[in-house]
Amino acid sequence: MAQKVKNIKLYKNDLPINIKFKGSIALDTETMGLNISNDRLCLIQISDGSGDSYIVQFLKNCYDAPNLKKILDDESILKIFHYARFDVAIIKKNLGIMCKPIYCTKIASKLARTFTDRHGLKDLCKDLLKIDLNKQSQTSDWGNENLTENQLVYAANDVLYLHEIKNKLDKIIEREGKQHLAKACFKFLETRAEFDLLGWQDKDIFEHK
Ligand code: MN
Repeated sequence: MAQKVKNIKLYKNDLPINIKFKGSIALDTETMGLNISNDRLCLIQISDGSGDSYIVQFLKNCYDAPNLKKILDDESILKIFHYARFDVAIIKKNLGIMCKPIYCTKIASKLARTFTDRHGLKDLCKDLLKIDLNKQSQTSDWGNENLTENQLVYAANDVLYLHEIKNKLDKIIEREGKQHLAKACFKFLETRAEFDLLGWQDKDIFEHK
């Protein structure tokens, strides 16, 4: 199956006030790098699961975004990420919002697919949805004001399949009786992200030492 991008909507610095979401949204971020204390947030991508994607591009470190913040702060909306730990921390640092409740497809995959150690988004698209995800723009310059079409398609694709992946993983997790573990891990992600922001990325608080 080819990659699909029905409709990409690009906005600068905030979503328009009339955009509303219900139930669950898939979220991803693009940043200048993977260092949460130094690398700035460039994009937040959102999908409602229908095939449309909404991209907010942050220019000139302008992170006011009241409309977007209202959505992120709405606890009636489940936020689905792939590797939520990073996105949740970077959103908290730049927008001051702790996204919750959280669902993470990487953690769900680790709990569900214990027969493999391949839990990247590309692996999940391939194994669960038979979709070949193109990750070529992953390391491109996301701070560029004029994003290329390839970058926009890449950014949109990172959120487009998360609802479907979640559905597939939830079935396995339920079959294997691991819902309580998934729930507890997702809840702990808020704390894990806070530890990362405190500089405790490599500290395991459960470890005996
Ligand atoms: Mn991404």
